[in-house]
Amino acid sequence: MLNKGLFIFIFFSLILFGCHGVDDNKPSKTNNSEQEETSELELPKKHLKKFDTHDSVQVLNDHLLSLGYEVNNTKHFDSLTTWALTDIQLQFLPEHVSGMYDEQTRDILNQLKDNQEKIVSEKKLKKTQYPDRLPEVTDNPFDVLALVNKEHALPSDYIPHDLVVPNVRFPFTEDVPKKQLRKMAADALENLFKASDEAGLELYAQSGYRSYDRQKTIFDNNVARHGEDHANTYSARPGESEHQTGLVMDVTNRTVNFELTTDFGETKEGQWLKDNAHLYGFIIRYPEDKVEITKYQYEPWHIRYVGEALASELYENNLSLEEHYQKNLEEN
Ligand SMILES: [Zn+2]
Repeated sequence: MLNKGLFIFIFFSLILFGCHGVDDNKPSKTNNSEQEETSELELPKKHLKKFDTHDSVQVLNDHLLSLGYEVNNTKHFDSLTTWALTDIQLQFLPEHVSGMYDEQTRDILNQLKDNQEKIVSEKKLKKTQYPDRLPEVTDNPFDVLALVNKEHALPSDYIPHDLVVPNVRFPFTEDVPKKQLRKMAADALENLFKASDEAGLELYAQSGYRSYDRQKTIFDNNVARHGEDHANTYSARPGESEHQTGLVMDVTNRTVNFELTTDFGETKEGQWLKDNAHLYGFIIRYPEDKVEITKYQYEPWHIRYVGEALASELYENNLSLEEHYQKNLEEN
């Protein structure tokens, strides 16, 4: 009786152990490809931005596709990748909208993976919101890397949703809209001012965000005074001013009486800015040697936020934003 019971116990134990053992071994012995696939689907840990070409971008694009976004299934971080990330950030990270991919965006995407019903594609930003307009109007004005110039305009109804007044020095005390920047650029400008203070310098912020309507008033006044052709050489048409992005600040100093003049480029502050702005995510948008390309006069005072990664890339390769776009659109 005892022997029979023991026999049955051993018999079933062997079956259970055997089955268990086979299950355990299965993935590592016979299913390498499945395992690789699983680890590939993990969202990339590195920062990614528009025009990056990398295997990890493919993983990101696959992920966006699985969330219902109609992006391209490629290794290229293109304008569709930027659009999808922007739409997601507008819904879940309104303080952190850039169109770029970083840790905070990764966390949100991971949460959405487990909770897909929460996401609505194109909820905040339609894929082609502003078609058939000349000059070409950008589909994604929230994109921190957006190109805005005489050929690429912002929509007339675009007002940044995250404007704040940076805690920096201004040469005036009035509380006016031109003190404002988008949150991300404001934080970066505070860091830039802190560093220049520590270098013993005294920068002043003169003019940041400018609305479409304000730009229209300025341009119309200039046209009335000097005619449209002439006005267009020194003043931007509404929609074509980078100041509407909320990512630009004109800076100056006491030496040039807080004016916006090329002499600023020769001052200690102007020199420091030229060599260090990129470390805080800003570029000198209209350099002296790029007038033919940017179609704007040299403006050593006009700094544009694009984030540290791109700012450093452009600085090190001596490229304007126009050249960066041209190069990448040709390559992809
Ligand atoms: Zn400016």
